[in-house]
Amino acid sequence: MYDIPFLDLPPLRRAAGTVRLPGSKSISNRVLLLAGLAEGSTTLHDLLDSDDTAVMLDALRRLGCTAEPLGDCAWRIGGIGGRLAVHEAELFLGNAGTAMRPLAAALALLAATQGGSFTLRGVARMHERPIGDLVDALRGLGCAVDDLGCSGFPPLRVRGEAGGRLRLDQPVRVRGDVSSQFLSALLLALPLADAAHDLHVEVTGELISKPYVAITLKLLARFGIAVARDDGWRRFTLPAGSRYRSPGTLHVEGDASSASYFVALGAIAAQPDAPLRIEGVGHDSIQGDIAFVDAARAMGAAVRSGPNWLEVARGAWPLRALQLDCNAIPDAAMTLAMMALYADAPTRLANIGSWRVKETDRIDAMATELRKLGATVQAGADFIEVEPPAAWRAAAIATYDDHRMAMCASLAALNPLARRGSGGAQPGVPVRILDPRCVAKTFPDYFETLFGVAGADAGDVPVITVDGPTASGKGTLAAALAARLGYRLLDSGALYRATALAALRDGVAADDEAALARLAAGLALRFDGASVTLGGDEVGDALRSEDVGLLASRISALPAVRAALHGLQLGFRSVPGLVADGRDMGTVVFPDAALKVFLTAGAEQRAMRRHKQLISKGIDANIDSLRADLEARDARDRNRAVAPLRAAEDALSLDNSALTVDESVEVVLGWWAQRRPFG
Ligand code: C5P
Repeated sequence: MYDIPFLDLPPLRRAAGTVRLPGSKSISNRVLLLAGLAEGSTTLHDLLDSDDTAVMLDALRRLGCTAEPLGDCAWRIGGIGGRLAVHEAELFLGNAGTAMRPLAAALALLAATQGGSFTLRGVARMHERPIGDLVDALRGLGCAVDDLGCSGFPPLRVRGEAGGRLRLDQPVRVRGDVSSQFLSALLLALPLADAAHDLHVEVTGELISKPYVAITLKLLARFGIAVARDDGWRRFTLPAGSRYRSPGTLHVEGDASSASYFVALGAIAAQPDAPLRIEGVGHDSIQGDIAFVDAARAMGAAVRSGPNWLEVARGAWPLRALQLDCNAIPDAAMTLAMMALYADAPTRLANIGSWRVKETDRIDAMATELRKLGATVQAGADFIEVEPPAAWRAAAIATYDDHRMAMCASLAALNPLARRGSGGAQPGVPVRILDPRCVAKTFPDYFETLFGVAGADAGDVPVITVDGPTASGKGTLAAALAARLGYRLLDSGALYRATALAALRDGVAADDEAALARLAAGLALRFDGASVTLGGDEVGDALRSEDVGLLASRISALPAVRAALHGLQLGFRSVPGLVADGRDMGTVVFPDAALKVFLTAGAEQRAMRRHKQLISKGIDANIDSLRADLEARDARDRNRAVAPLRAAEDALSLDNSALTVDESVEVVLGWWAQRRPFG
């Protein structure tokens, strides 16, 4: 997950490979609630791990359910069997509509008959999202619901006395034209009424987002409750004696809305002979957003599907413009608005009024952000019309704490593929995504997953180089920059050190250039977060030892060793960007780097730093001999014939003798900001 202020995507040109989708948000939160209300234990597989499911899990625990992680996205939930285990609780539900609405309904019914008082709150935006129609329906049933903020919006308190009765003789009426979640919430909760006769729910107004109600009905059926649907989508009947019965085990499908970004990616950037494969949803999905696939096909996507998989490649190109009523696929329709940027004419998405009451006002947000990219956008109360940019502009896209805005924005990075004017290769512009962390609502690893299948031309992938002498703090600075920017990291010294370590282990002589070059070319070195392994062995500490460093310094003067490591280093340049530190990153390996930093510090300073580092690891060291060592190593690095240590002509020098790490990072980020096209 990228918990950073912004993430810059370079222009992307291709997509290939396989993505495995996270579990469906809609299914995950519904089955969590059902498992929590049912009796006994339910094992849920492939559950979504995200902000929205975390708040639901937390709420269930506060209500006395047990929730035990079994690993690999599986959970065992122990339910309360329809009997309140806790009669008072304060629940914080973030911005999860799929938690707020059904929990409000379930707890209102339980409190009304068994007694209790429950407060339900969320983030500020949640307190702007309507819930009044559900509250009206609950009050109609005889539940006590207090508005704790503005009438018709959370926060709410639901309460009641033990022995209270519900009014079940009349049909329950609920409006369906603002959010289908109000109806879903009632249907999920009504089995708790334990009615002796059939219960009827009647929808007033045209029901929107029907496929989400269909998911509710299918999952209720899995928990033993067969709701009948009559008169189209107007009337629902819950049979007398309905009781939740746990299915024991349940598998959650991949998220069909999340699939839409990869369907779009494939339609824009995957070659027909190497389609992008998406695993987790297929044509048998119970999620309404699977219908997005038909819309994508209409725009030109070539899609094949099977049970639990889709394969998508470019079909028609440019994409074909679309005029579509998107009422049934409000979430995935946002992805169509992004695909519209690659179409041959303006695309109009209609009947999307519900966008205005989602995580943000999505019609306003989408119009504002697409215009930044250069698109011409018309927007109204319940439609949006998008005309592709005549000229794309690099833009910093705001995401409004809305996961879908962030995931959608990433598709703008495919802009070099867009047909413009006379066609032909396009230079492409980068796209900045502000607050990328918001994808955690439903897809915490969205960008990592995207980077696993999307490719850029190497020349488009930005590189920052940090070169300088031993113990100047390059590694620390480079790692901090990479973390702040979400970029990959190349510690090129580690490659020379690993070659040295391998030579020591294999007894290869320090002057056997050919054998050393062979070792370097065949290094089985892996970087995985803080861990470094060589041929499977953890070598992080061994690489930092003084004798390995000394040998590295000697063998790095050998041209054949340097040549063998060259290609390996170039391979680190991949999406979204790279920070590389060493001696010749800016001069030899990445001469086209977008920013080159030459880091220095006095020999005295550097010896002290190295001393502190060694002492902290419990290694004995003497400052004077360390300093002599550093200076000898510097001299060797500076005076060798190949790739000597020197600042690139276009490098910016930074003497960090008197700076903290944070101060150095801020200086370099300031330089970086000036070189980016985002203003
Ligand atoms: O930076 P570090 O001390 O880990 O590097 C180990 C040795 O590898 C250095 O002493 C230097 O001689 C060599 N090196 C190099 N070119 C690089 C990185 C490191 O010659 N790009």
